[in-house]
Amino acid sequence: MRRQMIAGNWKMNTNLESGKALAEGLAKHVSGKDLNADVLVCPPFPYLQAVKAAVGNSGISVGAQNCYFEEPGAFTGEVAVDMLLDIGCDWVILGHSERRHVLGETDEVINKKTKAALAKGLGVVLCVGELLEDREAGKTNAVLDEQMKGGLADVAAGDLSKIVIAYEPVWAIGTGKTATPEMADEAHAHIRGWLTSNYDQSAADAMRILYGGSVKPNNAAELLGQPNVDGALVGGASLTVDNFGPIIDAGLAQSGK
Ligand code: PEP
Repeated sequence: MRRQMIAGNWKMNTNLESGKALAEGLAKHVSGKDLNADVLVCPPFPYLQAVKAAVGNSGISVGAQNCYFEEPGAFTGEVAVDMLLDIGCDWVILGHSERRHVLGETDEVINKKTKAALAKGLGVVLCVGELLEDREAGKTNAVLDEQMKGGLADVAAGDLSKIVIAYEPVWAIGTGKTATPEMADEAHAHIRGWLTSNYDQSAADAMRILYGGSVKPNNAAELLGQPNVDGALVGGASLTVDNFGPIIDAGLAQSGK
């Protein structure tokens, strides 16, 4: 039985006022509910503290969308793991496709960031996923294997409990095209198989694997109901309470299924 996680990636959206209002609205949405799933919001860096204050003691966690792997020092424009912990972040999203394909992050860099976060106890949502051309060429599993191997290089089995994997087919992110529930489950099962081969069965069974890619209130329940889907990483639909609220509720309903 795995606890679901519903995570919102706000990307480079909101401003201070709308970010606080969204966080307050989500806190109100979950108020009085049995939070049997992890709910996470990941606003832009400048709003992390305000959003952390706005979610208060609602049970909603706050995470960042990136971090740097070095200790604090002369790295202009970067944000250290210590700084995220200092302001109460519990998680960081790493390896998002926009960072891989727009900002040019390699598996090697993602791996360094993953290890830096884990070393300090910051949870990692590690994103993997194939391009449309990979899928059409029948290379989905090979791409997933490579990203898992690269991202988790030298990560000890004992640290896996601080990691959540997010399978996000790049062709489904922000496009309105969703992987069918069967396609998502198949990719998740493949990732779980990779974990079995490269760690062991119990690590694979315990790992939460989220699906991301145009998750909306009208498709969340079916996706989250798949045996290998343990939650969702949500972009566009995480920006309003009207959309993210029902996705959270679908996660609560499927938790521990
Ligand atoms: C994402 O950016 O992680 C994502 C899944 O975006 P969207 O839900 O908008 O497709």
